[in-house]
Amino acid sequence: MSFPLPVRPLRDARLLAPEPDGAPRGPDPSGPEIIEIAEAAGVRGRGGAGFPLAKKLRSVASAAGSTRFVIANGEEGEPASVKDRFLLRERPELVLRGLALAARAVGADRSYAYVSDPAAARRLAGARGGDLVDVVRVTPGYVAGEETAVVRAVGGGPALPTAKPPRPWQAGLGGAPTLVSNAETLAQLALAVRLGPETYRRLGTPESGGTFLVTLSGAGQAPVLYEVPYGVPLRELVTTHRGTAAGVTGMLAGGFAGGLLPPSALDLPLTHAALAAAGSTLGCGAFVLLAGECPVGVAADVAAFFDRENARQCGPCVTGTAGVADVLAGLTVRSATWSDVARLERWGQALAGRGNCATPDAVTVLVGSLFLHHRDLVGAHVDAECERCAVSPVTADTKFRISLEEP
Ligand code: SF4
Repeated sequence: MSFPLPVRPLRDARLLAPEPDGAPRGPDPSGPEIIEIAEAAGVRGRGGAGFPLAKKLRSVASAAGSTRFVIANGEEGEPASVKDRFLLRERPELVLRGLALAARAVGADRSYAYVSDPAAARRLAGARGGDLVDVVRVTPGYVAGEETAVVRAVGGGPALPTAKPPRPWQAGLGGAPTLVSNAETLAQLALAVRLGPETYRRLGTPESGGTFLVTLSGAGQAPVLYEVPYGVPLRELVTTHRGTAAGVTGMLAGGFAGGLLPPSALDLPLTHAALAAAGSTLGCGAFVLLAGECPVGVAADVAAFFDRENARQCGPCVTGTAGVADVLAGLTVRSATWSDVARLERWGQALAGRGNCATPDAVTVLVGSLFLHHRDLVGAHVDAECERCAVSPVTADTKFRISLEEP
């Protein structure tokens, strides 16, 4: 059975297309050469932060100690993203090739692939190179893919984030330097090595080489996974997807982690810098388009998700994330007061950087974006009936999350 979502290229970006049978695997560079290629190709992380891969590889390779590990992180906790599961199910050899290259680059003793998707685990185990990797299964969860949670779970513990520092590259599995790299990032490393940095960089921008996968959903369309060159305007992607950008009233950007953006964001180029300058993030490359839904209702739904998924082990989540979710839920049923709104705005500024993982930061971005772009609508839920809610209510059936069928 093929992947349950359509997968399409934008502007003929097909780096991640299957290789023809018998295609050469490409060159076999040394560890230092792999790091140089990653740097020259401008490969950046596709899991969320967009960190330059070469820097990460160099940090693990040069960290003190004689034992090192690498982990392909395929636990895709972002509910609006499917791209890692696509790669793990449909291009497992590319991910494994990238993992083997990363292992050589840092001098790793052992490699792991960390996934929750049973189909991905099966495909990895049966793929060429899969016998050299330990596949670790985890229960799906928003925080289970956070890098310290990954290390903890691969080491036999709970898939819960720990305080940083140390980061895994400093002290990861068993205290040894450990590279935790997103599955798509590793697939891109394999591509950069196979194609060479110059060819790889023909797509993309000076700051980010190559292509990346965008899970595009919402606005009444079935979700589609697109391979997109960095730097193309979001409007071009949306127009290709829907035939028009008209009627798009906003979006959730970067999965759930990038908050709400107004329709003017359609004119942003798809780069890390442009999304960051807009107060958001490219994150895992997932965008949920909105077509009239009340942003307060959308924010309430997303905050409820964060509250359900948070690990309840840090104060900012136990009180802050839960409080944000409560006030937003209260706004949707018109039980919240102006003093609740004032608390919501305070929490929205106070939570960032205060947990073991980035969940409180995501809550901060969500609340900040709601007040920045929709302050009037927040007030409308206290003082009067919200016209948006009357026309297009956000209900439990509103599809901000994508579930994949088991093949
Ligand atoms: S910040 Fe929140 S989600 Fe992250 S580890 Fe702490 S309690 Fe869990």
